[in-house]
Amino acid sequence: MEKKFKRVIPDDIRVEDLTPLNISCGSTKCNEDLHCFSLKKSALRKHDSERVCYQCGTDLIEWDRIHKNDIKDAKFIFKSMKNELIRHVFWHTPIEESALEFAHSRGKFELRIKAGKLLKTRIGKHNAFVDGRQTPLSGKEIISYAQHATATCCRKCLEAWHNIPQNRVLSDEQIEFCTNLVMLYISERVPNLKDQGVEAMVQLKK
Ligand SMILES: [Zn+2]
Ligand SMILES: [Zn+2]
Repeated sequence: MEKKFKRVIPDDIRVEDLTPLNISCGSTKCNEDLHCFSLKKSALRKHDSERVCYQCGTDLIEWDRIHKNDIKDAKFIFKSMKNELIRHVFWHTPIEESALEFAHSRGKFELRIKAGKLLKTRIGKHNAFVDGRQTPLSGKEIISYAQHATATCCRKCLEAWHNIPQNRVLSDEQIEFCTNLVMLYISERVPNLKDQGVEAMVQLKK
């Protein structure tokens, strides 16, 4: 079961060459300070804690602060997430032309509505509890990029980063929080979309 997540990227592949297609949620490149903080029993066995990188045991995330799920603290949340290999790649990978075109044709207002609906069907409902492939790793969907980057792609990532247990239907408030994270990612990666200010209607902390 656990095996399919163990994808240590070979040393001769540079981080810059990693794309959404050659990594998975459990990928690590610990020697370059890019880890995986997914909750794993093996981390507990090996390192006495699930809240560390399961490969190398590094403990560098301020979980108490992250788990407040305070959208005003999004900058800190995103900075912390970039220590994880899969998030790092989705924050830095070039976005496909078709995804950019899609984002521009819709604008933030429409994207926000679509993101809320997608989050609800992909990760919000009962049938989303079993971790699957509910969020594609590539393609023209800008919202999918955003979900992987912000750990709102599946219930395992949601549990690790946002401390929301897997066996629960998401509340409207939780969907709103996830939608705001997605929209902040889109605003940063695709500047100059129409409908400025619709990303997260809060003042972010520095
Ligand atoms: Zn590590
Ligand atoms: Zn995930």
